[in-house]
Amino acid sequence: METGDPLKMLKEWISASQKTVVLTGAGMSTESGVPDFRSKNGFYAHYDPAEVASVGAIENHYETFHQFYQRRIEDLKKVKPHKGHEILAQWESEGRIHLIATQNIDRLHQLAGNRNVYELHGNIRTFRCARCDHPAGEESFLAGKRCPQCGGPLRPNVVLFGEMLPQEEWRKTVEEASEADLILIIGTSLNVSPFNQIPFYSRGKKALINMEPTLLDDQLDLRVFGKAGEILSQLHSLLLN
Ligand code: NAD
Repeated sequence: METGDPLKMLKEWISASQKTVVLTGAGMSTESGVPDFRSKNGFYAHYDPAEVASVGAIENHYETFHQFYQRRIEDLKKVKPHKGHEILAQWESEGRIHLIATQNIDRLHQLAGNRNVYELHGNIRTFRCARCDHPAGEESFLAGKRCPQCGGPLRPNVVLFGEMLPQEEWRKTVEEASEADLILIIGTSLNVSPFNQIPFYSRGKKALINMEPTLLDDQLDLRVFGKAGEILSQLHSLLLN
C-alpha cells in the first residue's frame, strides 16, 4: 500500500493513466438515496437477499420476490444521479476514463451520461419469463401477469444470487481490465464474486474509494476513505488545477 496523500496520488495516477477502468458498487449510489446492501441502513437490515434476490425465491416465494422488485422499480424511478455520477460522465467524455463496469442495477451512470457502462449484475428495465425466457414488459411484470407463451412467472433481467454474469459483458470487462493502467474501484465492499476478482486481471494500479475498508484492501495499491461524491468532487478540482 502506498503512503503519502492518497488523494493527490490518485489524482496523479488518473492523469498519467492511458486506460482507466472504473468498477462501481452500491456505495456509488447511496448519496442519491439508494440504500446499499451491507451498510447499517442497507437492504440486509430489512431483507434476507438469499430469500428475495435468488433463483430459489422465484420458485419458492414468488410473491415476496415480486413485491421486492416491484418496490425497487418504483423506488428507483424517483432517484437521480449525484455530483459523483456527473463527474464520471464528464471524465468519460474527456477520455479520462474508459469504461464503467457496475454491480448496480439503478441506471444512474447512464442517466448521468456515461455511455460505456457494463451492467454486470443486469438491469431492472427489461423483463423475461423465468421459465422460457420469452421477453416481457415492465407493465406486465408490475401487474403480476404470467408469461403469455408458457404461463411462467415474470422476472426482471437482474443477475440473481446463484446465477452467471452476462458472458459478453464479463468477457469485455476482463479484456479491458487486463489492458488498464488503473482500476478505480468505488463504493463496493468487494464481497461479491466474481465481480471482486476483476481488479486482479489487471497488472495496473488498483485504487479504492470507499467509506470503509474491504476484505481485499491488502491486495490494492491505494485507498481513499470517504463518500464517493465528495471524493470525486475533490479529485475533479485537483485535476482542473
Ligand atoms: P455492498 O452493500 O456490499 O457494499 C457497499 C460499500 O459501499 C460498503 O463498503 C460501504 O461502506 C460503501 N459505501 C456506502 N456508501 C458510500 C458512499 N457514499 N461512498 C463510498 N462508499 C460508500 O454493495 P456491493 O459491494 O455493490 O455488493 C452488493 C450487491 O448489491 C451487488 O450485487 C449489487 O448488484 C447489489 N445492489 C445494487 C444496488 C444499486 O443498484 N444501487 C443497491 C444495493 C445493492
